[in-house]
Amino acid sequence: MAGIYIHIPYCHSKCAYCDFYSMPRTEHIEQYVTALIDEWHSRINEISEPIETIYIGGGTPSILPPATLDRLIRALPLNNVTEFTIEANPEDITKEFSDYIARQTPINRVSMGIQSFVDDELKLIGRRHSAVEAIKAIERLKQSGIGNISGDLIYGLPLQNMETWQHSLDTLLSLNLTHISCYLLSYEQGTRLYAMRLKGKITEASESEAVAYYDFLCRTCAARGYEHYEISNFAQTGYRSKHNSGYWSGVPYIGLGTAAHSFDGLVRRYNPSNIKEYIAHKHTPEKPFFVIDEENESQRFNDFILTSLRTSRGMDLDVCERTFGTKRIEELLSSAARHIKSGNMQLSGRQLSISENMWLISDSIIIDLIEV
Ligand code: SF4
Repeated sequence: MAGIYIHIPYCHSKCAYCDFYSMPRTEHIEQYVTALIDEWHSRINEISEPIETIYIGGGTPSILPPATLDRLIRALPLNNVTEFTIEANPEDITKEFSDYIARQTPINRVSMGIQSFVDDELKLIGRRHSAVEAIKAIERLKQSGIGNISGDLIYGLPLQNMETWQHSLDTLLSLNLTHISCYLLSYEQGTRLYAMRLKGKITEASESEAVAYYDFLCRTCAARGYEHYEISNFAQTGYRSKHNSGYWSGVPYIGLGTAAHSFDGLVRRYNPSNIKEYIAHKHTPEKPFFVIDEENESQRFNDFILTSLRTSRGMDLDVCERTFGTKRIEELLSSAARHIKSGNMQLSGRQLSISENMWLISDSIIIDLIEV
């Protein structure tokens, strides 16, 4: 099994918290999609396993005109694909768009950035939609026949309090989506929110507030039957994201587009963040756009720890041993011993995992396990 990630680096405007590589304009979008197709053709032989998941993310992929999206989809290997996701923003989900996705494309999953169901919070972080518009967008997708929908929320937002967080989460749960992703707001350097905090215009949620929001999230989703399968991800039975689960379990994937990352099972690569250069590049197997991430064994081991311990399944010690050797496993288990004893980690057979109530502050455990 393998996956393809495709990065669409265009948005209608820039959200105040966002540090993803994206431009708030759509110039050269046709040339960009042509370059994506060229890059795919130049890397078609890179992974021999069948492509089972495709994920078009961004940026805002729902910004693509249908004919342009069609052109891209037609170039992709669809024969073995079981999960095909597109990220979308509520303001793009017209009846035409959702009918088109449902009836004329192989896309069978939509991941929607909602972030909050409180208009003042949405406005402050620069979202272009209202709470009501987000609800209507979800209803439209369902009416068109798209049943597999994921909704994103953010907690720890400025202006947010426990009451408004409960309102946002309750509203999302009332929509009965198959999948929910909830992230703690992170203030990234260079974003508008970061500057606002620096000037004292907004305050960051305290650690105890963040833990309280997270605790409410975990308890509420569990009560509604969602499986908490990764720090930020919850799914109804049978609806875990196959594509993202692949990232956390070491499945190879090819990342197409500027700022996209790839992993062939051993080596990581990344495409530099530059739309102009990406479009101008002549994509051939001999001259790829990507740069190899020169990781040493120790860094690869740390990556393995960081990705696998984000999930409820945790780390497979047999896989870890086969890949990184017995000595590393012995040292890892020795470092993990006191966390297992305190109940913050669990060792079940050959699976090592972090207890759910510690996920939000899992960095404090992981720091003891990684090699420095
Ligand atoms: S729509 Fe998404 S990618 Fe675009 S600016 Fe907002 S958060 Fe970032």
